[in-house]
Amino acid sequence: MTVKIIESNKTCTGCFACYNTCPKSAIKMELIDGFYKPVISQTACVSCGMCVSVCPQNSDVRITNYQTKAYACKNNDNAVRVKSSSGGVFTVLSESVLSEGGVVYGVAFDKQFLTHHIRVDSMIDMVKLRRSKYLQSYVGDVFKNIKRDMTEGRKVLFSGTPCQCAGLNAYLEGNRENLIIVEVLCHGVPSPVIWKNYLDYRVKKSKNSSRVENCMFRTKDACRSASWNNSYMYIKLDSEDYIVNSDSDPFMMLFARSDIILNDSCYECRYRELVNRGFADISLCDFWNIDRIAPSFNDGGGISLMMIHSQSGENLAEECIKTMAVAEVEPQRALLLNSSSHQPKQINQNSKVRSSLIRFPAKFGRIYFTYLPVIYGRKVIDKIKKILKRQ
Ligand SMILES: Cc1cc2nc3c(=O)[nH]c(=O)nc-3n(C[C@H](O)[C@H](O)[C@H](O)COP(=O)(O)OP(=O)(O)OC[C@H]3O[C@@H](n4cnc5c(N)ncnc54)[C@H](O)[C@@H]3O)c2cc1C
Ligand code: SF4
Ligand code: SF4
Ligand code: SF4
Repeated sequence: MTVKIIESNKTCTGCFACYNTCPKSAIKMELIDGFYKPVISQTACVSCGMCVSVCPQNSDVRITNYQTKAYACKNNDNAVRVKSSSGGVFTVLSESVLSEGGVVYGVAFDKQFLTHHIRVDSMIDMVKLRRSKYLQSYVGDVFKNIKRDMTEGRKVLFSGTPCQCAGLNAYLEGNRENLIIVEVLCHGVPSPVIWKNYLDYRVKKSKNSSRVENCMFRTKDACRSASWNNSYMYIKLDSEDYIVNSDSDPFMMLFARSDIILNDSCYECRYRELVNRGFADISLCDFWNIDRIAPSFNDGGGISLMMIHSQSGENLAEECIKTMAVAEVEPQRALLLNSSSHQPKQINQNSKVRSSLIRFPAKFGRIYFTYLPVIYGRKVIDKIKKILKRQ
C-alpha cells in the first residue's frame, strides 16, 4: 500500500515531524518546488501509518486556557541588542537555560549560508542562533535529539517557526517536561533554493568576488543610517560588501514586500494566532508600532514583544524579566499592530512571478533580482513626481 502522509504537498509546512517519527527511516526530506518536503522510500516503508498520525496538518491546532500575557522587552546589554533582530530577548532566555546546564536548539547558517536547526550547550555557540534568517530551515534529526536530552533530564529550549513548534509537540506526543518551546511570529518562510540563487547572483554581479563570507538579514549596525526601523541586508563577499536597505534589496522585496517566495503552506497558515492557541510556551516578535501603546519605551534600538502562553513559559520569563527593561501590555492590542499576525495575500501564491521563480529559479531569479529594484525605484520616483505635481 502506498502511504500518503498529507492530502497535498502544498499544505506541508516542512516541519520534519514525519521524518523524525518514521521507525524505518523511510522518509527523506527533499527540496521539491523550492521547499523541504517528505519523500517516502516505498521499499523501506512498512505502511505503519505513524507519519500520517504525527503530521500536525492532519490535526487541530491546540487551544489553551492559559491567560496569555504580553510584555514589551529590551535587553539591557546594547551590544547584544544591536546584534539581535528585535529586542534581544532570545539571548536572555537562552542564557538562563544554558546557565542551568540546559541545551538550546535554534537556527544557524551552514557554510553555504543555508539554514539548519542546531543544538548548542554554550554561550559561545549560542551566538550562531542570534538574528533571524529569513529562510525555511532544515530541522534534520533535531526532534530525536531533543527527546534524548529530555530523557537524560536536561532542560531544553527549542526555538523555531510556529509550524516547527507544532511538529515538535506532535512528535513528543505532548510530553513537554523539561522543555520550553519558543516560537518566532512568522511572516512565512522564503525558499532556500531562491536564496541560494540570490547569493550566486550577488557573487556574479561583483566582478572581483568568488564567494560569500557572511550574510545578515535586517541588520541594525551594517552602516551609519541602519537602525531597527531602517534595517539593511548585509552580504559580505571576499572582495566587497553588499549593504542595501531592506526595502530596496530584491530578495527582501520578493519575501516581505510581495509575499511571492513563501512556502505554499504559509498562504494558509494555521499557526499565526498567538493568543490562547498554538504550541509554544513563549512567542517572540518585533514590537512594531509600539509608539501607539508605549512611546516612551521606544529608544529606536529594537523592541521585542514577548508573549507567555503557559506556566513553564512564565517561570522562565519571570527570571529573565529581572534582567531586561520590561513593560506589560495588552496582548490583543499589541498583536493588532503587527501585520504578520494576519495572513499574507493568498493571491500571490498563484502569481505568474511566483510559479516562474519556483520552477526556473536560476533563469527568472536573475531577471527579477536585476529588474525589481529598477521597477520599484521607478514607482517611487513616479509617486514623488505625482506628489510634487499636486503641490
Ligand atoms: C522566518 C521568520 C519570519 C519572521 N517574521 C516575523 C514577522 O513577520 N514579524 C515579527 O514581528 N517577527 C518576525 N520574526 C521574528 C523576529 O524576526 C525575531 O526573530 C524575534 O522577534 C526574536 O528576536 P530577538 O531579538 O529576541 O532575538 P534574535 O537573536 O534575533 O532571535 C533569533 C531567533 O530566531 C530563530 N530563527 C532564526 N532564523 C530562523 C529560521 N529560519 N527559522 C526558524 N527560526 C529561526 C533563532 O533560532 C532564534 O530563536 C520572524 C522570524 C523568522 C525566523
Ligand atoms: S508508514 Fe510508517 S514506515 Fe512508512 S513512511 Fe510512514 S512512518 Fe515510515
Ligand atoms: S507537515 Fe510536517 S509532518 Fe506533515 S508531511 Fe509535512 S513535514 Fe511531514
Ligand atoms: S507562515 Fe505558518 S506555515 Fe509558514 S513557516 Fe510560518 S508558521 Fe510555518
